[in-house]
Amino acid sequence: MIPTDLVGVVQQVSTGALPGWDRVDELVHEAHHRHMADQSGTVADYIPILGAADPALFGLAVVDVTGGVHDAGDALHPFSIQSISKMFVYALAIQEHGHERVRDIVGVNNTGLPFNSVVALELNAGHPMNPMVNAGAIATTALMPGTTPEEKWERIRTGLSAFAGRELTLDDEVYHSEAETNQRNEGLGSLLSSYGRLEGDSDAIVDIYTRQCALNVTAHDLAVMGATLADGGVNPVTGEQVVSADVCRDTLAVVAASGLYERSGEWLFEIGIPAKSGVSGGIVAVSPGKGAAGAFSPPLDSAGNSVRSQLAIGYLSRALGLNLFASAPRSGVATEG
Ligand code: GLN
Repeated sequence: MIPTDLVGVVQQVSTGALPGWDRVDELVHEAHHRHMADQSGTVADYIPILGAADPALFGLAVVDVTGGVHDAGDALHPFSIQSISKMFVYALAIQEHGHERVRDIVGVNNTGLPFNSVVALELNAGHPMNPMVNAGAIATTALMPGTTPEEKWERIRTGLSAFAGRELTLDDEVYHSEAETNQRNEGLGSLLSSYGRLEGDSDAIVDIYTRQCALNVTAHDLAVMGATLADGGVNPVTGEQVVSADVCRDTLAVVAASGLYERSGEWLFEIGIPAKSGVSGGIVAVSPGKGAAGAFSPPLDSAGNSVRSQLAIGYLSRALGLNLFASAPRSGVATEG
């Protein structure tokens, strides 16, 4: 574990501001236009209904922390949130149980293995390692408050709705399609139980996880949800404080380390911004203190990340100045050696 001694030290922030509204709007439309024609990638079909998605769909949205909204293309087209739910349920779990408890139960380090890996669990004595892979997400879902599966599910649905600033609903067709073909996630749930790392009935927890993945969102919703994490937990459109600023910081750190699965290091190296993807083609990317981008396009690369969404967010990261690691020499500083 990393040694820390931060008790009583006030958190200061390290952020700047986006360019003006018109410039952001221009760049969002430019990012969309620039990558619209890209045909690479394959639509996921291991959840049968996802295979029916139109590969031409492409939506992009940016929401800034002042509530400014920019939508391009199919930004209002609904799709199931899938793995992107993991980061918001994780935020709710930290809000409920605190930094240490969730860190100890779920972990924060990248597994370096695919999102549905069973090997990753076996290699770590059943410890899920991080909440952005399926095993860790199932363990996180189990932490939701509620004495019945229905109560836990309702907490997730209302919590994610507060992030989105509107009532999110279940896509029944996606839920049933995944529930009928969910043996691998049920296997992960049973394995967690066998290691004593999951409380309650594992099939019931996996069923709640399956429902959370089938909540319908749009690229616009993802941008609002991400912007809430960029704004110290306050939804910049509704003004509601959904989670605390500390929860946002913790969530974004884990998302930066593992949001694009085994490509997370490469993503940080190339694009430099915490982002989470899902197999239906969504990606949300969050720039703390500035805002967030939501993108949607079904064709995926071999790690399960939407190709057009990565390209468009990569463009915005560079053009809008979202890369957390970018700096320029301070003007006026002498450069002699
Ligand atoms: N519901 C999907 C699953 O559990 C989510 C995976 C993903 O989006 N990467 O397999």
